[in-house]
Amino acid sequence: MALVQIENVSKTYQMGEVPVKALQDVSLSIEEASFVSFVGPSGSGKTTILNLIGCLDKPTAGDVFVAGEHINLLNRKQSAAFRGSALGFIFQSFNLLPVLTAYENIEYPLVMIKNISQSIRSKAVHKVLKAVGIMEQKDKFPDQLSGGQKQRVAVARALVTQPKLVLADEPTANLDKKSAVNVIQLMRAMRDEFGTTFIFSTHDPKIMKEAEVIFTLEDGMLVN
Ligand code: ADP
Ligand code: MG
Repeated sequence: MALVQIENVSKTYQMGEVPVKALQDVSLSIEEASFVSFVGPSGSGKTTILNLIGCLDKPTAGDVFVAGEHINLLNRKQSAAFRGSALGFIFQSFNLLPVLTAYENIEYPLVMIKNISQSIRSKAVHKVLKAVGIMEQKDKFPDQLSGGQKQRVAVARALVTQPKLVLADEPTANLDKKSAVNVIQLMRAMRDEFGTTFIFSTHDPKIMKEAEVIFTLEDGMLVN
């Protein structure tokens, strides 16, 4: 089975009386270690599909399988455990904790897992700090870092638990053009180094051309 398998998935949100069809009968699969982008204009369903793959939401119809888990069948607690063990997330607005240093932000997901010793945490954090090229910034706080450096910290934080899959919803939307391309190329290098699958969304043509597989959404429908 593919790492991600989406079968006839629809998602309808209810806005008061009005149903909003955010996704309509989408089927696709994503292989392990691929570098994938969902593209489409604002409102086309990119966030919705990433939330379904990220086990943050459930489809109205259809089935979603991620890393062999039939994720529509998981309850809230099981979903949270699955996210913690198999997935990493990168956000548009970085979502770093301002009171923690770069090092501590990256260490944070490991602190949340019980029974990981300080020395194992330190090894894991140093490995990803080195991989993303921000060793010299490790003791700085987020407000002392540029946007591109913050997103590097966020990439390292997403990778530190060695997830199978990293999801990034418009990770370059708050970056200048050069930093944006740099961050996407860094993500691809991390895929090469660790074999982690990356799925990101964007509506920027310069960014989407860095992807190896592109799924285009229009009005909640897959058009390629
Ligand atoms: P994108 O990320 O491509 O901009 P979204 O997945 O956020 O698109 O949204 C797809 C459609 O679903 C849009 O019409 C949006 O307004 C609607 N939508 C998204 N989330 C909700 C929600 N929680 N409640 C109601 N409608 C929503
Ligand atoms: Mg969105």
